[in-house]
Amino acid sequence: MSVQLEPPLRVMSLHALAYCERLFYLEEVEEIRVADDAVYAGRTLHEELRQAEEERGEWTSVDLASETLGLVGKTDCLRRRDGSLIPYEHKRGRPRREGKRLLAWPSDALQVSAYAMLLEKRLGRPVPEGRIRYHAENATVRVPLDDAARQAVLDAVARARALRASTERPPIAENDRLCLRCSLAPVCLPEEERLVTHPRWEPVRMFSAERETTTLHVVTPGAKVSRSQDQLMVTQPEGSSEKLPVHDVGAVVLHGFSQMTTQALHLCARQEIPVHWISGGGYYVAGLAAKAGQVQRRLRQYQALADPGVCLRLARRLAMAKVETTLRYLLRATRGTDREATGVARAVEVIRESLGKMSRSEGVMTVRGHEGMAARAYFDVLPQLLRPEVSPEMHPEGRNRRPPRDRFNSLLSFGYALLYQNVHQAILGVGLEPALGFFHTPRSAAQPLVLDLMELFRMPLWDMPLVGSVNRLQWDTEADFEVAPGRVWLSASGRKKAIQLFENRLNDTWRHPAIGYSLSYARLVELEVRLLEKEWTGRPGLFAQMRLR
Ligand code: SF4
Repeated sequence: MSVQLEPPLRVMSLHALAYCERLFYLEEVEEIRVADDAVYAGRTLHEELRQAEEERGEWTSVDLASETLGLVGKTDCLRRRDGSLIPYEHKRGRPRREGKRLLAWPSDALQVSAYAMLLEKRLGRPVPEGRIRYHAENATVRVPLDDAARQAVLDAVARARALRASTERPPIAENDRLCLRCSLAPVCLPEEERLVTHPRWEPVRMFSAERETTTLHVVTPGAKVSRSQDQLMVTQPEGSSEKLPVHDVGAVVLHGFSQMTTQALHLCARQEIPVHWISGGGYYVAGLAAKAGQVQRRLRQYQALADPGVCLRLARRLAMAKVETTLRYLLRATRGTDREATGVARAVEVIRESLGKMSRSEGVMTVRGHEGMAARAYFDVLPQLLRPEVSPEMHPEGRNRRPPRDRFNSLLSFGYALLYQNVHQAILGVGLEPALGFFHTPRSAAQPLVLDLMELFRMPLWDMPLVGSVNRLQWDTEADFEVAPGRVWLSASGRKKAIQLFENRLNDTWRHPAIGYSLSYARLVELEVRLLEKEWTGRPGLFAQMRLR
């Protein structure tokens, strides 16, 4: 019988299925789990009940499984009532009301019915009902295990199996109130998707605006990250050390020749904390991220990006977003200056022409060509954005790299390496494949999708704060740089200042023009990756709509 060949379903997953098919899919198939306050409160309730009932000798939670039903689960507890053993479930909330009648919510009823059926199999005799205790109302609701309840469980198992076999993520719930209480809303982004079909929709923000963790940058050569129980300990070469609880760390970035022990790497891998290496010269070397359950997400990405039409549409939108932002920044930064005399007027003209041409381009390569023209025009006049007081040594000579040959370009390259690390991390966190993009082609060790998405953020996350810092004369042309024939790198003090500038920028908040709410730039990177995924998993249209105002 095919039922026995498939891995069993958790009874809890049927609860998710009855709540929202997409929730079931995200949790059970894509293995995305987010523990929010409600989830923690539910766990606390169960733990408190377990302790109280264990003290009274009444806690009788049992593991149940049936190959015939294809289910496994663990009841909250079993009680003997009217001569029968019946499963009890505990819920924090309130029951459903119909007039004066108190009823179980369909997802709760399905769950307790599944436990009752499993218990029947285990005991070999009928179990007449299950009961649900709703603690917010101190009420117990009885759920008879009648034919309809049994059929509901069998239908749910069949539907769950069909969804598990599919790579298609089910659509968002029609009832938007379900999403308000859903722990996966920050991953699913249902409100943002409703915006595509209802442009006047005012999305309820369910995507956190702030970073909840920090990035640990280890800059000093010879500094070492090790493990001290559930903390990461950074020891400096002279012996001083600092400990950070692992839950406060969102990522570790090892610069140059800083070190990390295997034990600390294991801890990070287990806690799904990415670790990145950036060379002393400011190049992104590699990243490590442990994540499971991504195959469906990657399959959908491969399918979508194998279509040249999809790639062209995305490439055009991405390049237009970048170049329009560049144009607006250039106009804003040179307001009140003589643009004709400085050459900015000509650069603006070239950028406008490029925009017009790329909007009509029929191939990704052509879009890239026009985007490249606009980028060259911008870099040619970049020195015009610097104030007269800025030392000539801080002026860029066009864009040069590998290695950078002037101070400004060494700062640009270093900031882009930090940006690469952030975008790479967001892509892996969302579960996409960084090696498969739609705009850049694989040429170097850099991952194409990371380079693609970086285009959205180069200007707001690094060029703009960097130009601001240069104009505020924040850089020491001697102490912050290591100048050698043919190359300029940042010194340790320069790297520290650049990291600070970048991290501060990540914490700045910005109102997304398409989504309509404010969020930190750090969160914006993840949001755009999620919106990109929606291009092929949900409603397309929101990715790369961000523009500088
Ligand atoms: S946020 Fe809404 S649509 Fe998304 S999984 Fe949760 S309930 Fe379903």
